Amino acid sequence: MNAAPIPVVIVGAGPSGLTAATLLAQYGIESLVLERWEGVYPQPRAVHLDGEIRRIVERLGIGAGFDAIARPALGLRLVDPRHRVLAQFDRDPAGGRNGFPEANLFDQPELEALLRANLALHPAVSLRGGVEVTGLTVEKDCVRVDFEDRATSTSESVRAHYVLGCDGANSLVRTAIGARMRDLRFEQRWLVVDLATTIDPGHWGGVHQVCDPRRAATYMRIGTTRHRWEFRLRPGESADDYRDLDRLWPLLDPWLADADRGGLELVRVAEYTFRAQLADRWRSGRVFLLGDAAHLTPPFIGQGMGAGVRDAANLSWKLAGALRGELPESVLGTYETERKPHAHMMIRLAKLMGLTMTEGGELGNRVRGLLAPRLHRLPGLTETIISGESPPLHRSALVAAPPLRRGLAGRLVPNERLADGRRVDDHIAGRYAVITTSDPSPVEAATVEQCGGVVLRAMPGTALHRWLRGGGTDAVLVRPDGTVQTCGKTLSDLYSSLPSFAPSARPARTGPPTPKAAD
Ligand SMILES: Cc1cc2nc3c(=O)[nH]c(=O)nc-3n(C[C@H](O)[C@H](O)[C@H](O)COP(=O)(O)OP(=O)(O)OC[C@H]3O[C@@H](n4cnc5c(N)ncnc54)[C@H](O)[C@@H]3O)c2cc1C
Repeated sequence: MNAAPIPVVIVGAGPSGLTAATLLAQYGIESLVLERWEGVYPQPRAVHLDGEIRRIVERLGIGAGFDAIARPALGLRLVDPRHRVLAQFDRDPAGGRNGFPEANLFDQPELEALLRANLALHPAVSLRGGVEVTGLTVEKDCVRVDFEDRATSTSESVRAHYVLGCDGANSLVRTAIGARMRDLRFEQRWLVVDLATTIDPGHWGGVHQVCDPRRAATYMRIGTTRHRWEFRLRPGESADDYRDLDRLWPLLDPWLADADRGGLELVRVAEYTFRAQLADRWRSGRVFLLGDAAHLTPPFIGQGMGAGVRDAANLSWKLAGALRGELPESVLGTYETERKPHAHMMIRLAKLMGLTMTEGGELGNRVRGLLAPRLHRLPGLTETIISGESPPLHRSALVAAPPLRRGLAGRLVPNERLADGRRVDDHIAGRYAVITTSDPSPVEAATVEQCGGVVLRAMPGTALHRWLRGGGTDAVLVRPDGTVQTCGKTLSDLYSSLPSFAPSARPARTGPPTPKAAD
């Protein structure tokens, strides 16, 4: 094994690893993805992603394919034990500030299949399935990754400049760098039930959260014929108590009362322990943790997978810049600074939602009846569930937010449609962008272009113009991941922060076929 180190080795081909590999490839960075299983892990888990993650899905090049397997949801409804509505958070299925539906329901294995098919179009990436990574050793200027071929039991090694640990909740990479999960004190056992039927139970087309300390539950229709229920298990109960429709019926009856049981196909019943955990550190030298390896959240606001996809979008361009010598290696320190508080905030919101659904007995039910209609006033919850905007990123060397007035720094630019019909993200296309209310001078425009960036003019009367002015500024520097890095009064204020950074051309092959929805 004397070959030159590979730029990046990614351990794990779940959503976090596949997203990171694709985005790195779009910047022309070679990677090797090592995955324990040969194919897509078949167990359905995530079913929801928000408008911000949908934007990343578009950047990955699988937007149309995703729409073919997804269903926009109308929002989130909290209901009492008798299914009476306590509160409702509507989401715009036509698309809000992110330019796509703000809540999207889908099946995780179908999404992973799309991600894999798309990855195969990038010659810069090799995906090797059927291999188990067994250890990491830090060497001079690189990391050695040891793995075993599961079919032949032979041991192999590769060297990498950087290693991304996208290896899920029981991450070996996390252990190898000496990081530990910090317990954020949430642990509940839930039953997850997936069912296929052509029977239309006729429920509202959003996510239903049943607030009931005796049997909290979640229900959503994730496809034309696919439905997901999650029920909190009581002490002493296990999934084995609910393996068939007869035994499940007391739980499903309130949702499917008049349905002919012959028309219902039980896809699977599984038990999960939902936890809230955050790794104490997300990096050691050349090794990074992403996704479930770095954070675990209860799924009540559907953000676990999304957090891993956000990690990949945050780190990939910085890593590409550092590997290509266009950005100083020090930018890699901003990954944990920015992403950890964000992930922590989302976990807090998920815990709050979980406690709202499950705590307090009969008294809790009465208090919920009073408080739930006012939940939308809670800061953080409102932004995340209603406005489609997750919390701004923490200050860092790449988020220049003044101490007393944050303004737009750290926020994701709205994905408005521009005069030429394209959206903001299409124009930015993984580059640095300056968005300004005034016309740039030819010199200013040329400077941005020479750096590999793009200038966008926010025309008066447009939503983008109102967004800039509402943020108290006339010009912002937007990073390749769409986050505002710096606000300035004028374009020239922003010059000093503009690095030379340009994505390489995307691969010229045609995209993956648009799959048919599974159901
Ligand atoms: C019931 C349930 C419902 C959920 N609902 C939602 C939801 O609605 N929305 C949402 O956003 N999230 C949801 N989630 C969470 C989501 O499924 C996870 O957050 C997501 O799968 C994490 O992606 P990942 O790529 O970080 O890790 P994983 O998906 O766990 O992928 C890790 C990969 O690494 C591989 N691997 C591990 N160790 C090794 C090794 N040593 N060598 C080689 N390969 C290795 C594994 O085989 C695996 O393929 C839900 C989870 C559950 C359980």
